[in-house]
Parts: sequence; C-alpha cells; structure tokens
Amino acid sequence: MLKEYNRYLEYIDGELHLEGVSLKALAEEFGTPLYVYSASHIRDRVRAYREAFPDALICYAVKANFNPSIIRVAREEGAGADIVSGGELYASLLAGVEPSRIVYAGVGKTLKELEYAIKSDILMFNVESRMELDVLNHLAESLGKKIRIAIRVNPDVDPKTHPYISTGMKKSKFGVDIKHAKQEYQYAGKLKNLEVVGIHCHIGSQILDVSPYIEAVEKVVDLYHELVRSGFEIRYVDIGGGLGIKYKPDQSNPEPKDLAEAVMPALKGVDAKILLEPGRSIVGNAGLLITRVEFLKDKGHKHFVIVDAGMNDLIRPAMYDAYHHIVPVVKRDTGYIKTDIVGPICETGDFLALDREIQKVERGDYLAVLSAGAYGFAMSSHYNVRPRACEVLVEKQSYKIIRERETYAYIFKGE
Ligand SMILES: *Cc1c(COP(=O)(O)O)cnc(C)c1O
Repeated sequence: MLKEYNRYLEYIDGELHLEGVSLKALAEEFGTPLYVYSASHIRDRVRAYREAFPDALICYAVKANFNPSIIRVAREEGAGADIVSGGELYASLLAGVEPSRIVYAGVGKTLKELEYAIKSDILMFNVESRMELDVLNHLAESLGKKIRIAIRVNPDVDPKTHPYISTGMKKSKFGVDIKHAKQEYQYAGKLKNLEVVGIHCHIGSQILDVSPYIEAVEKVVDLYHELVRSGFEIRYVDIGGGLGIKYKPDQSNPEPKDLAEAVMPALKGVDAKILLEPGRSIVGNAGLLITRVEFLKDKGHKHFVIVDAGMNDLIRPAMYDAYHHIVPVVKRDTGYIKTDIVGPICETGDFLALDREIQKVERGDYLAVLSAGAYGFAMSSHYNVRPRACEVLVEKQSYKIIRERETYAYIFKGE
C-alpha cells in the first residue's frame, strides 16, 4: 500500500525507510518535526510528464515546494518553473532554472516583482487583468523592453475539488472570463511593448477526474483558433497544473499519461508549444513529515495523541479539511487505537487527523505523515513562535540537509 504513495517508501525490519534511508535515524539525527523528500520520486514524476507530453515544456509549480534543492531536482529532469511571486523567481534562479523556461502567473504582481521578472527576461507573463496589461506595458516601455505575454483565461469549469483550490470558475478572482478574452487580446495586441504569444489557463488543484481538463482545454482551443484567425501568433498554450495525487489509501489518482490521453485529441491541430504547470503531482508524494509523540491524553469519550508537528508546520488539515495518511515509523504489535492526532498550537483547528485508527503509540514514538511534499513546508509559519522544520533530501541511500531547522534568533533577526 505504501508503494502506491511512493515506490521508494517501505518497511525494512519493521522500520520505515525512504530510498533505503531509515526515517527513525533521520529523526534522531535532525530532530522533529522533520520534512523528508525523495529525489528519485521527483525525478520519476517529471519524467512521467515528459513521457506523456514529449513535446511540451513542463514548468514545475514552485509554490508547491520552493526549496531550491527541490526545484533543482526538477530542473535536472528538464523542468522549467511556474512562479507566482518575485520570491519564487529568486528561488528558481538560485536553483539554476533558465529564465527562458519560467512563466509567471498571479493576480497581484507588484511593480517591483514585474520589474525583476522583466529584467530577468523570463519566457512569459501570464497576465490576469486589463489593468495588469497596462501596467506591464508601461513598465516594459520605461525599461526599453518588449515582453512576451499570455492572458490567463478563466474557462468557467468546475474542477470538482475543494472550493479554496478551484480557480477556473466564473466567480473566482483568477484570469479573465473566456467569453471576453478576445477583447482583452485585441486590447493587448495594440500595446507596443507587449508581444502576445500565449494562452494560459489553470482550473484548480487536486483534480482527480480528467473531464474538467477536457472541457477547459476544448474552450481554450476554440479561443486559440479564433485568435489565430484574427492574426495572432499564438506560440504557447499553457494548460496549467492541478493533477491530483493519492492522499487516502482507497483513493486512485490520474497519471500524467491519463491527462495526455484526455486532452491530446482536443489539442490536435494546435500549432503551438504546450506548457504544463504541475506542482502537487511532482512533489506531493515525494515528501513526508516526521513528527514525535509528546503526550497521550485520554478524556474517556475521546483520546488524543499530541505530537510536535502543528498547523504551523502543515496547515492543510486545518485549512482544507485535508486527509493525510499517518503511519508509524516503527511497527509494533501493540494493537490499535482510535484517536485525534493533534499539534501543540493553541487552536482547536490544530490537528493532523481526527478519529483516526492508528497503531498504539507511546511518548517518544515517531509518526510519518504521508503526502506532505506539496503545500507542506511551503505554507508553514512561525505561529506560536515555532521555528520552522528542518528539510532533508534523500536519494539512493544517501541524504543531505536542504534547510536547517530555524532558531529563535533567526525568527527575531529582523526585530
Ligand atoms: C498552484 C498553481 C499551479 C500548480 O497547481 P498544482 O495543483 O500544485 O499542480 C499551477 N499553475 C498555477 C497558475 C497555479 O496557481
């Protein structure tokens, strides 16, 4: 069952290992909470995309996990980067991603961020509003540059995922309504310092059924043909990210090849480079969060396992009501309990799992929270003045630290 999450994850003599590295040994060496990632899994996932879409550019969505060592692994397998901030541009360049393989989306790009990206000569800006078109055009003019843009269109499809991660519905803040996209393209076409080269869409995240992609891509392709007929040279069609991963043991998820099979018929006849922006489906199941059991608490009607990882380390359960599978780092024949697994933060929403049946644990035991590679560390915070976790990358039985555990002094450095 673990192999369905990550083929490099297994119990060896009752002890959980990732790529042959003992997670108990890592927890003892580096302390907890501890994020551990498998580089081979990331490589496999990028390759799966490249095999499914041999002519496409795969731009890893950096917001899922911005550690430069993680971005670097994706880059080594041929991925570019999809960024949503100046900070993510910085991280991508630090990881050695070529600017000509970077695309930049986001509804609220600041002048400073835009200037940084223009000066870095990235591949394409995915513009989300008319006002942004104007601002970009002025800025490009003042810098004496001509820049490549796509317009992010909102195809109004329901990706059937959590409302907070649905981005392609009419009511969402993202993109421009596809029905009015042509007018926006015509407007952009008149702006002297913009070169209109692409169409962008991204409909949401953790999408488990490929049919919303078909619907979205069909609408995008209609727009593509309309624009080409009107004289636009559309060189890039960016269909975004969002492919879901396995979180629950009984859940199956589409693979990149399923996505390719679904959307390729609609893309036939499109004479443009296809771009994809997967984040979660590259790194999600590459990573685990290792946490230590601090206390057990039995309130009669309810049992609690209190661990040292809180919502400041992994906010997905609190924020999206997300399920993360949790397994013991060391297996024992001690029977099972039904329990809430909660963190140390002073919030009732601070839980990793509710009413979960797990192997009985004791103070000092380690638990592994699966599927924590995406939107885990990246969303972590200092809430309750808790230093952020340490991150370790394993590959083929070796490991290296890719981010040190923070100290109190680090948190207050800017005071
Ligand atoms: C978040 C995001 C992605 C990546 O989404 P995943 O679900 O992690 O694949 C891709 N493109 C854009 C524009 C995004 O905002």
